[in-house]
Amino acid sequence: MDTILVLNAGSSSLKFQVFGIAGTNGLQRMVKGQIDGVGTSPRLRAMGPDKRPLVDRAYSPDEVPDLPAATHVAGAWLREAQGFELAAVGHRVVHGGPDYARPVRLDDLVLRHLERYIPLAPLHQPNNLAPIRTLIERRPDLPQVACFDTAFHRGHSAVADHYAIPERFYAEGVRRYGFHGLSYEYVSGCLRDIAPNIASGRVIVAHLGSGASMCALSEGRSVESTLGFTALDGLPMGTRCGQIDPGVILYLIAEKGMTAAQVQDLLYRECGLKGLSGISNDVRDLLKSDDARATFALDHFVYRIGLYAGTLAASLGGLDAFVFTAGIGENSAEIRARIVEKFGWLGAELDHAANAAGELMISSGASRIALLAVPTDEELMIARHTLNLIRADKMGRSGR
Ligand code: ADP
Repeated sequence: MDTILVLNAGSSSLKFQVFGIAGTNGLQRMVKGQIDGVGTSPRLRAMGPDKRPLVDRAYSPDEVPDLPAATHVAGAWLREAQGFELAAVGHRVVHGGPDYARPVRLDDLVLRHLERYIPLAPLHQPNNLAPIRTLIERRPDLPQVACFDTAFHRGHSAVADHYAIPERFYAEGVRRYGFHGLSYEYVSGCLRDIAPNIASGRVIVAHLGSGASMCALSEGRSVESTLGFTALDGLPMGTRCGQIDPGVILYLIAEKGMTAAQVQDLLYRECGLKGLSGISNDVRDLLKSDDARATFALDHFVYRIGLYAGTLAASLGGLDAFVFTAGIGENSAEIRARIVEKFGWLGAELDHAANAAGELMISSGASRIALLAVPTDEELMIARHTLNLIRADKMGRSGR
């Protein structure tokens, strides 16, 4: 069976999934794996569709010093141990800049374009692009597709897309891009399938994982996001600060003598739930803890989500549905319940039993706003885009 490999390359890990292409539209997940500890204590782990472990192998840092080496190791294992024949590779790429509003087939020219956005996402973009470069060099005939976290938000109005700074900065790319677009696109598609009447209305989706944001959907399209120029804005996250007065940054530099690199490290790695609690970036740990700082960090998280629910509802001119997704949104009934309480004033009312049972629809019959918890699947979204693009290319080439 032909397969699609989906790659999601982070700073020290390479996550991968393999989907079999079955029939006209079917994609079947066959392998889910990752190499983490790249350059320090590399470890390849993968499991099959039934969650059965397929491999758990440690490597020395010299064997897997960087992402190109990790790509090679994952590729070799998939070929040799699993015998997969790849039809294409789909990549998660955080930034498509102002130009890319949809996934794109990769070649050397496109890759060079995407390298221009490295300054816009210096922590993520180089990692995302590294395996692409490796595969272009090693497997030039293998079709590759880039799917962007920003693309789904490219239809925002100019008013929503701007910061109130001189226009020349906007022209050079300082814009409110928004991220987690693949997740929102997937959830929007699910809503179309499971509840078309909700999908055509005014919906807020809260992607609450270790990275967290919220998106306002109107008729299934993104019109506003809590994330902006970088993945730091909006909600407090596991280790990222969320919305912060730019004056705080000026204070850190001018008064505390911090360098740009130190501020970056602080804002990305030491803030959010971890910074507030001083205990953990993981909501599970904080829920278990009876330390007052853990309680406070969660109170703050829930409070900010409630504030943004109001903001995004304003951007939509009202609200028909609110959808929870990603690690916290999908799994924590307690956090969902606390968040819904914050925007109860909009007419939202939870069905507590359905919420505790982890059902898809969790609003009560009396609720004026439909409440849902929908599992996201960014990798499946990437595989779908990749399949569509290589099929369209084939049709184009055969002149049909
Ligand atoms: P990412 O893909 O951004 O790494 P995920 O969407 O997998 O993140 O979410 C990871 C986070 O989800 C964890 O850090 C943890 O805080 C939270 N999480 C996962 N399971 C639960 C749970 N059962 N209860 C509360 N939080 C959870």
